Amino acid sequence: MINVTKTFFPPLDEYIVQLERIWKNQWLTNRGELVQELEKKIKDYLGLNSILITNNGTIPLQIAVNLLGNKGEIITTPFSYVATTASILWENCTPIFVDINPEFLTIDETKIEAAITNKTSAILATHVFGNPCNVQYIEQLATKYGLKVIYDAAHSFGVSYQNKSIFEFGDISTCSFHATKLFHTGEGGAIFCNDKVLMDKIYYSHNFGHNGPLEFHGLGINGKISELQAAMGLAVFPHLDLIISERKKVVDYYNSNLNFSILKTMVLRKNTIWNYSYYPIIFENETQLLKTQKVLNENNIFPRRYFYPSLNKVNYIEYTEMPTSEGIAQTILCLPLSHELEYSILEKIVSIINTNL
Ligand SMILES: *Cc1c(COP(=O)(O)O)cnc(C)c1O
Repeated sequence: MINVTKTFFPPLDEYIVQLERIWKNQWLTNRGELVQELEKKIKDYLGLNSILITNNGTIPLQIAVNLLGNKGEIITTPFSYVATTASILWENCTPIFVDINPEFLTIDETKIEAAITNKTSAILATHVFGNPCNVQYIEQLATKYGLKVIYDAAHSFGVSYQNKSIFEFGDISTCSFHATKLFHTGEGGAIFCNDKVLMDKIYYSHNFGHNGPLEFHGLGINGKISELQAAMGLAVFPHLDLIISERKKVVDYYNSNLNFSILKTMVLRKNTIWNYSYYPIIFENETQLLKTQKVLNENNIFPRRYFYPSLNKVNYIEYTEMPTSEGIAQTILCLPLSHELEYSILEKIVSIINTNL
């Protein structure tokens, strides 16, 4: 069975080497040696000043909204994974959707200003499939209206934009290290922030608000990642460049062989060094998509309708129309993409898609 993605499993002996360190230390969580080492490795690899790794990629979003949302309205994208919108609601803020750009698939920055009210506290946008939002434009708006900016960069490990890690943009950026993501710790995530004072608050927030064993700084939650998860991260880490270069080969194959006189794919924003995290194709209509998906499934190939549905259509949200996001959600399919996809399978995928158009 060929799925939309395939989790990278490091050689077992390399994982065991990391586990042996944990057994030797007799230390399982609360920021042990492996967690700190993984943080340092990621920081150096991405050229960052600060990072806090966490137990998943959703808690960082909740912490960011908790610290910056102020129970207000948060302008956000309807084209993301449900965690983006859910985090806003979970923290008792109100999501205000702004439609997306049909080429970049990120929030349409030109429509943000019209959605700002005196209750707006922040903008929470997603770098969809690792494609950066228009961060400059959003920053200017945020400065003009005194808003905070949070980026859900769950897809964006390894992406640079204008020669900087994408995690450097916004007041807070978050990432996911879930097993389906490019770099993973099984479950895990990270939070990035260049403001020292805010980063301290984030740190306390992710550890129950503890300030030492007896005192509390403020309200907190448990966002701590364990040594077991960090061990997986440390075992995967040395293979990152290979994971990315193998995925690039798949992307190059799709780019040169799919029939783009009919299909579309995401347009990468200029000055982006991408991470080859997802390969979305956009059909002319949903019927076309369903027909192709059926034939692929019959051949044991399982692409994913991602993101679907458009988040403004989730049943616990009051519906507002988002024509572009809804249209894209109905016609987009993410194709299998991993470090390990045989040429013969790629040929089959492309041939099924092209002949069914
Ligand atoms: C995966 C993902 C998340 C959630 O990350 P978890 O680690 O699964 O909690 C949030 N936002 C987006 C866009 C994602 O793809």
